[in-house]
Amino acid sequence: MRLRRVQKDIYMVRGMDALPSLENRGFMSNAFAVLTAEGWVVIDALSTPELSRDFVDNLMRVSKKPLKYAIITHYHPDHWYGAKTYKELGAKIVAHKNLLEFYRSGDAQVALEANRQRFGELFKGVTLVAPDVVVSERLSLRVGEKSFEIIPLPPAHTDNDLLVYMPKERVLFTGDLVMLNRVPFMGDRNASSKGLLQALQRIKQMDAKVLLGGHNEPMDMSAVDFTIGYVQFLRENIKNMKAQGKSIDEIREALKNNPYNRYAMHDAFHNVNVFKVDAELDMED
Ligand SMILES: [Zn+2]
Repeated sequence: MRLRRVQKDIYMVRGMDALPSLENRGFMSNAFAVLTAEGWVVIDALSTPELSRDFVDNLMRVSKKPLKYAIITHYHPDHWYGAKTYKELGAKIVAHKNLLEFYRSGDAQVALEANRQRFGELFKGVTLVAPDVVVSERLSLRVGEKSFEIIPLPPAHTDNDLLVYMPKERVLFTGDLVMLNRVPFMGDRNASSKGLLQALQRIKQMDAKVLLGGHNEPMDMSAVDFTIGYVQFLRENIKNMKAQGKSIDEIREALKNNPYNRYAMHDAFHNVNVFKVDAELDMED
């Protein structure tokens, strides 16, 4: 893990493009940190407390200021499961109200047990952490001299996505909403491809200069068009084929060769996305 400076006072670690495994230690997502006069604000928690500990150790070599806030962009393991480290260091955990609901319902613990079965020792050290600050409407957070606008979204990549915007710096943290040259994952049970398109259109209206996402190098607004392109490609093609009476198997077969074949995570996510969008379109009719 190598800490990189994105720009003044903003740092990141960059996970690889892969599914989690023992070999990659689950280090397949990014985390970010902003240094303020009062202390650190971190965005996302990586997949395990061991990884987030590594990340914090790196931050402390830059500045030993305290960890003030940890903002979790959504409930997926590679963004949330490492949050225990931040909590233990005294950071306030900030997340969407639906993440708290997921935690309280017991479903989060069931999902963690399933992930432990599937990935062996990888998630052994994970303890789920509930948010201290629950976001149900737009929230302005002032830490030291810096401002963070925290924007909860309706269902898109999940039903608990947050955007974090630093207006002065024109930096937008996009969680897993924006992907560049990588196929987005749309298979979450609470995902909405229609909502994702609306979220992406909303991001396009913002005056952000730098987009910092969960799985890419720093991006600009052109990445939003890439993501919109894939989502629209799926929705339009599946909609048309359904209108022609095609079955899900025929649709999947017809979309096997597509313009996104060569991009990262295509083989892991594309088929799941086709099934999910097909099911969603049934509900939209
Ligand atoms: Zn995700």
